[in-house]
Amino acid sequence: MTERVEFKLTNISDLSEQYDVVIIGAGSTGLTSALELTELGKKVVVLEKMEKPGGNSMRASSGMNAAETAIQRREGIIDSYQSFYDDTYNGGGKQNDVEMLKYFASHADSAVEWLKEHDVVLDEITLTGGMSVKRAHRPSSAPAIGGYLIHQLLNKLVEENVPVVCQATVESIDRDAAGRFKVDFVNAEDQKHALDSAAVILATGGFAASNDLVEKYRPDLVHYKTTNHPGATGDGLHLAENLGAQLVDMDQIQVHPTVYQDGDHAFLIGEMVRGEGAILVNQDGERFVNELDTRKVVTDAINAQERPDAYLVFNAELVKRASAVGFYDHIGLVKHGDTIDELAEALKLPVANLKATMQQWSGAVSEQNDEAFGRTMGLIDGFEEGPYMAIHIAPAIHYTMGGLKTSPKAEVLNKNFVPIKGLYAGGEVAGGLHGNNRIGGNSIAETVVFGLQAARQAFKNL
Ligand SMILES: Cc1cc2nc3c(=O)[nH]c(=O)nc-3n(C[C@H](O)[C@H](O)[C@H](O)COP(=O)(O)OP(=O)(O)OC[C@H]3O[C@@H](n4cnc5c(N)ncnc54)[C@H](O)[C@@H]3O)c2cc1C
Repeated sequence: MTERVEFKLTNISDLSEQYDVVIIGAGSTGLTSALELTELGKKVVVLEKMEKPGGNSMRASSGMNAAETAIQRREGIIDSYQSFYDDTYNGGGKQNDVEMLKYFASHADSAVEWLKEHDVVLDEITLTGGMSVKRAHRPSSAPAIGGYLIHQLLNKLVEENVPVVCQATVESIDRDAAGRFKVDFVNAEDQKHALDSAAVILATGGFAASNDLVEKYRPDLVHYKTTNHPGATGDGLHLAENLGAQLVDMDQIQVHPTVYQDGDHAFLIGEMVRGEGAILVNQDGERFVNELDTRKVVTDAINAQERPDAYLVFNAELVKRASAVGFYDHIGLVKHGDTIDELAEALKLPVANLKATMQQWSGAVSEQNDEAFGRTMGLIDGFEEGPYMAIHIAPAIHYTMGGLKTSPKAEVLNKNFVPIKGLYAGGEVAGGLHGNNRIGGNSIAETVVFGLQAARQAFKNL
C-alpha cells in the first residue's frame, strides 16, 4: 500500500504577493502542472476552493488510458497511437478536436512514465468501454486510481514545499497594462486576497455539479443525479470568458450508464467491473446491450427499457480482478445470492429468465462469441460458479465534454482562435478533445498530458 503523508495545507498569511504561475484547482491537472513547473525552477502556488484538494480526480476509479506503454508490452498487448486515436475518435462520434486528439494519443504513454518517475506506479491494466484493447492503467497497490494519484502527487509537492491553499475560491482574473495577471480570491471567511503572476493555469474541472449550467445547455438532463464532487461548477469557464475565451461543445454532457443511486448519494460503478466480465440485465432478468459499448450506447439502451435502470451481475471471482467491488460491497451497494435462484429472489427478478440469461452468457463465453449482442471484449467468465453478486444501477450525469477552446499547447484561445497570452488550461475545464462522448480512462490521461503541457508551455513563454 501507498505510504501517505498528513498533507499540511498552506496558510494564506504564508503566501508571497507574486508568483511566476498561479494554478487554479488542486485536482490531477493542477497538481501535475504545479509539480512540473516547480521542477523546472518556477515559483508557483495552487489555489483550491474546497476544504480538501482532489476534486473529481480523487473519485476516479477505473484507470488512465495510454497506448504503446511498457505495461501493455509486458502483457503482450501490441497497441498503437493510431488505434488509440481511432477508438477515441469513433467513440466521440467523430466530433473530437483532431489536433488535440493527435497530441493526446501520442503523449499519454510518456505521461504514464512521468507519473512512474514521481512514484505514481500504474502497473496493472484493464479495459474500458469503447476501447479495442486493454489500455486503462491502474495501480496494483490501491483499489482506485484517483485517491492514489492525488495522494502521491501531494506527497511530492510537500517534499518540494509547494504552497497549496484550500478554501481559496478564485472569483476573478484581470490583466494590467504590462500583461501581468491579478488573481482575486476569497477565503473561508469571505476575506478578499489578490496575487500577481506572469501566467495562470486554469485547472478548475468541469460543470456537472452546476444545475444552472446543465439547465442552460442541456435542460433535458436536469432531472439526473450527478457522480461529481460539489465543486464541479464550471468556475474556470466564467473566469476565462471574462478574458475573452471561447467555449466549445457546451451541450455535450456525458451521462454514465452504471451509477448506484438508491440512497442520497450517487456512486459511480467503474467501467472496469464490466471490463472484467460483468453483464447487465433488465427488470426481466435479460441482457439487452453489449455492455462494453460506449457509455452513450449503453445509457441509451438502459433508458429504452421499460424501467430505466438495470443490474450489473457477476460472481465473487470477479472481485479478485476488480478490487473496487470489495469497496462497493463494504459500503452496502452489493446484493448477494449463493445461487442464481437466491440472487434472482434478492433482486426480485424472474428466476427462470435470469437462469436462461446466465446459461446463454456461459455459452457465449465458452465459445468466445456473443451472438446476441456482439460483445467481443471482457468475455472472461461464464459465471457457472456462485456465489453471485449484483449492483442496482441507473444513468447519472458524469462528465462535461465541453469547455474552454484550447490549442494542443494548452493555450486558451479567444473567439478568433488566437491564444490569450499567458493563460493555459487543461483537464475537464477544456473542451473538444472527447467529441460527443468521453471514453472511460481518457480523462485522467488528459489531466496528466495537458497538465504537463500547460506547465511546459507556461515555462517556455515566461
Ligand atoms: C466518480 C468518478 C469516477 C471517475 N473515474 C475516472 C476514471 O477511472 N478514469 C478517468 O479517466 N476519468 C475518471 N473520471 C473523470 C475524471 O476523474 C475527471 O474528469 C478528472 O479527474 C478531472 O480532473 P481536473 O483536474 O480537470 O478537475 P478536478 O479533479 O475536478 O479538479 C478541479 C479542482 O478545481 C477546484 N476549483 C474549481 N473552481 C475553483 C475556483 N473558482 N477556485 C479555486 N478552485 C476551484 C475544484 O474544487 C477542484 O478541486 C471520474 C469522475 C468521477 C466523478
